[in-house]
Amino acid sequence: MTQMVKQIIATALEDQQLRPQTLDEYIGQVEVKEALRIAIEAAKIRSLPIDHILVYGPPGMGKTTIAAMVAHEMGSKLWRTTGPAITSPRDLATIVASLQKGDVLFIDEIHRLSRAAEETLYPAMEDFRLHITLGKGLTAKAIEVPLAPFTLVGATTRAGMLTSPLRDRFGLVFRLGFYALPEIVQIIRRASRIYGTAVDGNQAETIAQRARGTPRIANRLLKRVIDYAVARNDGQVAEWVLEETFHLMKIDELGLDEMDRQLLVALARKYGGGPLGIETMCAILGEDRDTVEDVYEPYLIQSGLLERTARGRMLTEKAKRHLRLETQGTHALFP
Ligand code: ADP
Repeated sequence: MTQMVKQIIATALEDQQLRPQTLDEYIGQVEVKEALRIAIEAAKIRSLPIDHILVYGPPGMGKTTIAAMVAHEMGSKLWRTTGPAITSPRDLATIVASLQKGDVLFIDEIHRLSRAAEETLYPAMEDFRLHITLGKGLTAKAIEVPLAPFTLVGATTRAGMLTSPLRDRFGLVFRLGFYALPEIVQIIRRASRIYGTAVDGNQAETIAQRARGTPRIANRLLKRVIDYAVARNDGQVAEWVLEETFHLMKIDELGLDEMDRQLLVALARKYGGGPLGIETMCAILGEDRDTVEDVYEPYLIQSGLLERTARGRMLTEKAKRHLRLETQGTHALFP
């Protein structure tokens, strides 16, 4: 086995270990957890599958983890697919027809299901039935196929892009917002225990400040810090190890990377601080609209660097101060 393959396997195993399996291991999102706990207990008492669940929020917030936890807590099997992977109603019918009683079906990016596939899903979700049309024209015959009761967990970065008939068919709807700093610190400390590398409270906080309130980013930063420590400091995390890692990754103390800074600097220099339309933002970043709206913008808005107004996106005073700091010693952006 090559070193690379070994590394890929090791990373996959670590990722699996990192993913919380039970509600107790899932950090933060207290209200979501409480609602899930009640729904799971009730479903167990009734010996029925738990209601369909819709989870929405930016990437890396723990949506997939919720699907896996629900399956684990219910003692059922998890099946995973994505909206774009289901290309026809037939694909969807095949998937739901193969589910066993109580199985959890996770559909990521559910807002990207085709309309026809989505319509096949309605009766499947509502009455655990498939409506199938056999033949064409005058001889066409509609039949109904019963399905085993299952739980659908749908995930999306955009609740707004879901049609209301689909949204209305979910019994439980959860929004996962950015995690608070102490929660991210907890996530980092938990992951560091799994990795077997000591990270103290201050070090965890230094990493957490750069994690954009997102568990996946927190874990990724921690992994890079540990790699650096292993390669350069006998596996010991130290302040200079953190500094060097973030310097290499070009991540500043607010968690902004080069792309974020590029956007903010362009907004300041070329566009006088705004307002700026989404299309121009996409052009500056060289990214599509979904990525800009789902990945870049929410954090910049949440951290008070960007403001969304009716006329477009504006740079805030905080962003101006931050940029001024960033460029100290080189050239000032704002006189
Ligand atoms: P999403 O599906 O929203 O993109 P994931 O569920 O894949 O995000 O989560 C990304 C990673 O972050 C997971 O592998 C898991 O290790 C970690 N994670 C997510 N949410 C939590 C949480 N609440 N507590 C601890 N770790 C979490």
